[in-house]
Amino acid sequence: MADIEANPFISFRSVCKSYGGLHVLKNLDLTIRQHEHVVLIGPSGSGKSTILRVLMTLESIQKGNVLVGDGHLWRDTGDGASMPPPRELNAIRRKIGMVFQSFNLFPHMTVLRNVAEAPVRVLKISRAEANERARKLLLSVGLAEKEDCYPIQLSGGQQQRVAIARCLAMRPEILLFDEVTSALDPETVSEVLNVIRSLASEHKFTILMVTHQMDVAREIGNRVVFLERGRIIEEGSPNQVLDNPRNDRTRSFLRAVL
Ligand code: ADP
Ligand code: MG
Repeated sequence: MADIEANPFISFRSVCKSYGGLHVLKNLDLTIRQHEHVVLIGPSGSGKSTILRVLMTLESIQKGNVLVGDGHLWRDTGDGASMPPPRELNAIRRKIGMVFQSFNLFPHMTVLRNVAEAPVRVLKISRAEANERARKLLLSVGLAEKEDCYPIQLSGGQQQRVAIARCLAMRPEILLFDEVTSALDPETVSEVLNVIRSLASEHKFTILMVTHQMDVAREIGNRVVFLERGRIIEEGSPNQVLDNPRNDRTRSFLRAVL
């Protein structure tokens, strides 16, 4: 833990987030070290997705600071709102990629185009180079032969692998996965997990993953964080939290999901 505190890569410091009167994150402190794989678990509505969405700047926060690398993603202004400083924002945002439960592929674009489009539009690389990058990524997720298909022609597991390739095409350092295997048939979960496992074992990504599948948490996580009602209740190694939880609330949550 001392190491993690000494070398934070992502830190949430006293972050408060509410939706109207609903306080979802309550003075949240969470620190993630570079190359760490952190898995967030907790009951539905505990604020897991909100944490990822705040990192993607899809949601704003009311109080606190969020730092990524040596820059502020959200800076507390002290007057009831935290602002992202525009100068740093784009550079920080580009470090982060997210994959969603519902794939969110562009339905009118081929698989190749889905993966190549953002590098062309956002990174301004040439179409030829983006296609080459996309083909390599499709090969690495086992979908080289599907580049001309449209999303609707693919299974859920295949669509999710395209979504992962699309995320990687932007060369992020931080990968956020929100219940990425939850919408899949049990048989296809493993094809997506295999892809994530090989990404994780390359050790170059920092990963923050939300899952309600404890076997997935065990497999991917270096650290498991149990969240309830916007507060961290317990955290530790997967073995410690999942096999020997110290807190009663962690214990009853695990009894309910296992
Ligand atoms: P989790 O991912 O742990 O299930 P979320 O972070 O999605 O939880 O949601 C936390 C709480 O915030 C839930 O009660 C949810 O209903 C509420 N919430 C999430 N998004 C919104 C929103 N856009 N507007 C209002 N309430 C929201
Ligand atoms: Mg969620």
